[in-house]
Amino acid sequence: MTISTPVEYSFSVYPKQYEMKKLLSDEEASTELLYRNEGVYAFGHGCAADWEQNSKNVQQLLTTFMPEYEALSMTPNVFVDQDGKKVELEIKMSDLAGLSSNESPEKILKPLIEGYRKWIENKSTGVDNVPELLQPIARKHLKLCKESLDRMKNGLKLLEDQQILEAFRLANTAILLQQVNGKDRRFGCVEDKQIIFNKPFKESVKDEISLKNASNTWRAFQIAFILMSIESLVDEKCDAREVVDLIWFPTGGGKTEAYLGVAAFQMILRRLKNPLDSGVDVMMRYTLRLLTADQFQRSSRLICSLEYLRSKNSKKLGDAPFSIGIWVGSNTTPNSNKAAKTSLNKLQKNEKNAQQFIVNSCSWCGANLGYYDEKGSKKRYYFGYKIKNDRLVVHCPDKNCHFHEELPIYIVDETIYEKHPTFLIGTVDKFVQLVWQPKARALFGIGPNGERFNSPPSLIVQDELHLISGPLGTLTGLFEALIEELCLKNVEGKVIKPKIIAATATIKQFEEQARALFGRENARLFPSPGLENEDSFFATPAINKETGKPMPGRKYVGVYTTSVRIMMSQVMAFSSILQSTAEINERERDPYWTLLSFYNTLRELGGGLTLTQTDIPQYSNSMAMRKGLQKDIRYINNVLELTSRKQSHEISKTIDDLKLEYRPNKDQKDMNSTIDLCLASNIIEVGVDIDRLSVMAIVGQPKMTAQYIQVSGRVGRRWWERPGLIFTLYSNTKSRDKSHFEHFREYHQKLYAQVEPTSVTPFSDSCLDRGLHAVVIGFLRQALNDDISRSPDWKEIRKSLNNKIVPFYNRLIERAELVDPEQVEELKSRFMEILKRLEKGNYTAWRVDPKVNGYMYSAGTTIPHALKVNARSMINSMRNVDSECRGIIASVYSNEEHNESESGWEGLFS
Ligand SMILES: [Zn+2]
Repeated sequence: MTISTPVEYSFSVYPKQYEMKKLLSDEEASTELLYRNEGVYAFGHGCAADWEQNSKNVQQLLTTFMPEYEALSMTPNVFVDQDGKKVELEIKMSDLAGLSSNESPEKILKPLIEGYRKWIENKSTGVDNVPELLQPIARKHLKLCKESLDRMKNGLKLLEDQQILEAFRLANTAILLQQVNGKDRRFGCVEDKQIIFNKPFKESVKDEISLKNASNTWRAFQIAFILMSIESLVDEKCDAREVVDLIWFPTGGGKTEAYLGVAAFQMILRRLKNPLDSGVDVMMRYTLRLLTADQFQRSSRLICSLEYLRSKNSKKLGDAPFSIGIWVGSNTTPNSNKAAKTSLNKLQKNEKNAQQFIVNSCSWCGANLGYYDEKGSKKRYYFGYKIKNDRLVVHCPDKNCHFHEELPIYIVDETIYEKHPTFLIGTVDKFVQLVWQPKARALFGIGPNGERFNSPPSLIVQDELHLISGPLGTLTGLFEALIEELCLKNVEGKVIKPKIIAATATIKQFEEQARALFGRENARLFPSPGLENEDSFFATPAINKETGKPMPGRKYVGVYTTSVRIMMSQVMAFSSILQSTAEINERERDPYWTLLSFYNTLRELGGGLTLTQTDIPQYSNSMAMRKGLQKDIRYINNVLELTSRKQSHEISKTIDDLKLEYRPNKDQKDMNSTIDLCLASNIIEVGVDIDRLSVMAIVGQPKMTAQYIQVSGRVGRRWWERPGLIFTLYSNTKSRDKSHFEHFREYHQKLYAQVEPTSVTPFSDSCLDRGLHAVVIGFLRQALNDDISRSPDWKEIRKSLNNKIVPFYNRLIERAELVDPEQVEELKSRFMEILKRLEKGNYTAWRVDPKVNGYMYSAGTTIPHALKVNARSMINSMRNVDSECRGIIASVYSNEEHNESESGWEGLFS
């Protein structure tokens, strides 16, 4: 059905929220402001309503079963006024590195700063045109933009200092080297006992001299963010140090390089200040193993670049190498050198079930770390790993490489504790090891007597912040208190906290989340939003230079049927998508040849998988017949599954397979290689970047909008040449799906505003139940002297009450007061219970063992009942929710817990 107005009339919009409801929270008002130009003209009932996009006067409304919405493509390119003309800003890394010229950063970055200042000024004059009710929030937005600008200026000013300037230049050089080197994997074979690579070393690696005029540029928001962060790293006492800075940029925007740039600056600065101050300086955390592998490689390239630069400047930067450690579960990397040795033996013997090591190429030159075949024989060699002094050493097989002897990459836990690498990358879960592994104290620069032998980590980076939510986020939030505590240092009487940077593409109520998670009062978004959602100065809609119209965006199409169920709807939609691709010009097929389909559950995915065997091919065939396209029938030969049911290395293989392009005029052999259909679970939500893919089907509306955004963001990443096309299939038996379909336009035009807030409640009873013990024990084992780390000797613990435990307790209470004041009393009493338990328990060891009186055992393990009486179960993962164990075994001590302590130490805790 279509309805139109007479020519001189148009439809009016539904009233806006701010017009109906006067009292809006800041966040609601902010959304209303940013999206005030998006109107809703109609809702569907049993259908979807649609109207023309990008039109001020809507004169036609229609009902449809396939509503569409094209999201704007955003560009990080920034245009500034120069001599009255708009020019694209280009900031070269080599310029800032001081390689190409000796021009000061001030001069190079002035157009950026000036451009941003003018943009703010310009927007400020526009506030009067904003509806009156939204003007206060508009002013607040611009005030925060101004604050960002001021912080950038402060950063720039600090670069007048020679040492800081040097750190900044070297950081730029390091990022430039990281951008250029080690990206392409080099393979080779063995000939006359020598490795011959497909690409020689000299052509693969560039040094800073040959990069003098390299064209690599910063995106404006990346360098602006680095500039803004300088003050908080240099001046540890400044207010900005305690602000959580959240980089918020659409997916595929280059957030990683922004925070790696900050990290590089920090690591160099610390060495310039004190060349002997090695040890962990940056801690970067992730949530998923898949993401970790990819990020690990990017970070490793940075570390190799830094280490290369250090080796040339060891007088200034010290003799300890810059290094990186990957601290993750034993599924991904071996946790002991013994296990690593076994794995290496298996790999060298070419055994099938051998676990691959995570680093598969040299981060500096790209040389393959793995198998090399000997030419003319069936012999295979395994290169890149060796055992030296009982330790697994990663090294580059190419003898020309700077890292032929050893790569500064540590993947075995034991080695990580021993070497305390400059840059530690770990999963959130791994930090539970602070309870179980006393050696982990070295990562915080803490020595055997609880003294500092190195500075603690200064920078914590948390990527994909939105994933730290729900039960995982809640427990992580409690653990953050311990991590921060171990990172504290005292500078001239002031307690200095580490700087925290987080990144995400989707977030709601970030201030609340940052407060709950990190216990920090202030959090800031970067880039700070302006007056419209589509213009933050650092990100603007991509415009076609010739036509002046927006470039193609990511198109969402809703598919809903009233008569067939979701299974049949899949058969029909998939067949249609796959078959139509066979009908377009061969040269244009690649982006749309591989259909990526997303399922909300593995059960639904299983259902989808069975359809690919007969239903989809059959339907596809008959569809082609019906259209009279016998010649162009699409055969579906290659179907893949990308789910957590697959092992780590199988997933990597699937991702590599997905990268295979469709090539016109290919022979039969190739025909079998390009993937036709890939069925994926939520594993693709983060970290899967295959930029050739442009078409996707989402089967059923995902539960969370953040997930919907992340998943659909996997396609159309090269939007300027192959824009994304997303089909969302709605089930007609689920009322939620139906509602999403009926509100399709409204939902999609404010997609980012629909992200649900995530709740993190680290001081709730249930979280204290599971986590407080771990946090307190973790503290005792890491921060006090070695004897306590080995066994809970109360006499020893008591000695540290005054100078260590009480201050920790006070800071914990302070945090709870900020996050959840109602829980403060509960926290206090539970904390005391733990200490009393230690006092009365006469424990002789931490871990339960038949011969000793152990304090704790790992949750989920079975131990004899007799040992359980005195002991407590302790978490060993952030994810294991052992809530099924409801039974309570009251211990002897819990009855005594209410007794007054004899020695009166409790008075220390107010
Ligand atoms: Zn190498």
